[in-house]
Amino acid sequence: MTQRIPVAILGATGTVGQKLIRLLDQHPWFEIAALTASDASAGRRYGDVVRWRETTPLPDRAAGLEILSSRTPLGHPLAFSALDTQAAADVEPLWAAAGSLVVTNASPFRLEPDVPLVIPEVNADHLGLLPTQRARRGWTGGIVANPNCTTTGLALVLAPLHRRFGVDRLFVSTMQAISGAGWPGVASLDIVGNVVPYIANEEEKVERETRKLLGAFADGAIAEAPAIVSAHTNRVPVIDGHTETVSVGFKTPATPEQVAETLAAWRPDPVIAALPSTPAQPVLVDPRPDRPQPRLDLEAGRGMSVTVGRIRPCPLLQIRLVLLSHNTVRGAAGATIQNAELLVAAGVVSR
Ligand code: NAP
Repeated sequence: MTQRIPVAILGATGTVGQKLIRLLDQHPWFEIAALTASDASAGRRYGDVVRWRETTPLPDRAAGLEILSSRTPLGHPLAFSALDTQAAADVEPLWAAAGSLVVTNASPFRLEPDVPLVIPEVNADHLGLLPTQRARRGWTGGIVANPNCTTTGLALVLAPLHRRFGVDRLFVSTMQAISGAGWPGVASLDIVGNVVPYIANEEEKVERETRKLLGAFADGAIAEAPAIVSAHTNRVPVIDGHTETVSVGFKTPATPEQVAETLAAWRPDPVIAALPSTPAQPVLVDPRPDRPQPRLDLEAGRGMSVTVGRIRPCPLLQIRLVLLSHNTVRGAAGATIQNAELLVAAGVVSR
């Protein structure tokens, strides 16, 4: 691609918006053309407003851009949304109606029957919902969502297992990083030296989004996977990286060795493998007994690979394991960018 596609970032000042700016700087296909945030930030220079939390310097080009209002669509072919939930519900349809493909992190449209909820390695074919969405809503653009950060790691691990053995039921308990709550997130007095066994709406999201992601696309609709999913979600004093302990029962019995072999051998389809953000291996299997750990394993595959360990028999269901995924990269900004790359590769957004 010789000329990069101009893109807008909606909600550019937040945790995910900053990660988008970092990951899109020097992206081979996309060039940041506009940044938006709330009306309180609009009209000011990004570098003067943002409380930059990334560990690499704020790129000069982004620093010098004026923050625009999120409510005025600008017609870019792609808009990356990291908006707050309510703002996303109000604003994303305006951009979709004005012709932008909105790739979003936010939750309001994820479970709408005509909105693709996509992880490229898992269910790229769900993009087939877009014509239905456009016809039903009268949009020339559209909305494509990535899942909640907790669901993403889980679905990536379940997808190849579901294809081979059929996921029947599962139980997942999470240890979720503070960064998943955005800035300023959970009060330090609530989380330092503590565990908070409640994250609003999170368990419902994990249960419902997992079934949609593993569902089948046919005749212009998604038939959700009939798996029974039980989620317990907890906030722990970790900065980045969601750890999840999972017990799973399959329709076809599987041994720990078969599960490990299936995960380690899984490679994306060639079109997905060629996307700039796709890691060589979506899932890495680590045989060491005390892995994965957020501090040691978070950056696997530049934050886009999920690491799995402790695959062993489960006396309650069949198999139990531990997984770790980067919540703001694979679970948020990296996922949105990879979905945008998929839209380009699929010809939905032209180069
Ligand atoms: P955040 O740090 O709170 O940032 C929210 C962004 O939305 C900011 O740019 C903010 O702009 C903007 N905003 C707030 N109210 C607005 C309004 N009324 N109109 C226009 N813009 C408004 O949140 P975050 O953690 O980055 O999350 C962003 C989205 O991604 C959320 O929907 C979240 O649920 C989802 N998500 C987050 C994660 C994660 O790991 N953090 C993972 C997956 C999904 P101002 O700075 O001007 O207020």
